[in-house]
Amino acid sequence: MALSSQEHLSKASLIESVVAQGSGLMGEILLDAHFSLRHYEDRLLNENELAHYDVPEAARAIARYDALGSFRPLKTAPTLRRGWLIQLKNIEQVILALDFFYPAALDLYGAFLQQKLLITPLRETLDRQTGMYRITQLLKEEQAQELIEKTCSSNKGCLRKVLWSISQVQEISTLPAEKKRVSNQIDEIPLLCREACNLLVAAARPLAKKNLPSTNA
Ligand code: SF4
Repeated sequence: MALSSQEHLSKASLIESVVAQGSGLMGEILLDAHFSLRHYEDRLLNENELAHYDVPEAARAIARYDALGSFRPLKTAPTLRRGWLIQLKNIEQVILALDFFYPAALDLYGAFLQQKLLITPLRETLDRQTGMYRITQLLKEEQAQELIEKTCSSNKGCLRKVLWSISQVQEISTLPAEKKRVSNQIDEIPLLCREACNLLVAAARPLAKKNLPSTNA
């Protein structure tokens, strides 16, 4: 059954609809109808094998570093560490915890369902850059395609669905169709990307610098 854009406009109702069958997914997180959150990969573990927390702020600390202790600059990278369970008291606390795990992701999906989400093509994002990132406007299409594949792929870089294109006339050809399409699975809140993030723009800079005209002529 598909989520209805008219029925699920608030964050609370979004979550309630996703866990209506008992549990649901958001990124790497498994939510259940009793206000608990854990890593999806821990779904078959006994609760006594997990570290227990009971405040939403625990999510902020869990999301900060990966299993090897490295800082996670991109919260939607598929590197959330395992081994924890957050048992909360109500839906408001679940919303807060999810916002620590995936900042603004519920708002983005809510706006998407209401058909109010503004999508910005990569060229427009790069055209807006100033200062040291202005040079990214020199990025060639083939460089952009490779960069997007490397940075945004779900298995390598990011779990968000990429809703933007390279320009009004250039689609992304290096990501699979399911990465660019929002499914209407009732038991999942998708993570959405409405425009290229700072990490992608920063990674575009060294590539674009290669396109500067040679000064040796
Ligand atoms: S541009 Fe979007 S999909 Fe790509 S890495 Fe950044 S947030 Fe993720």
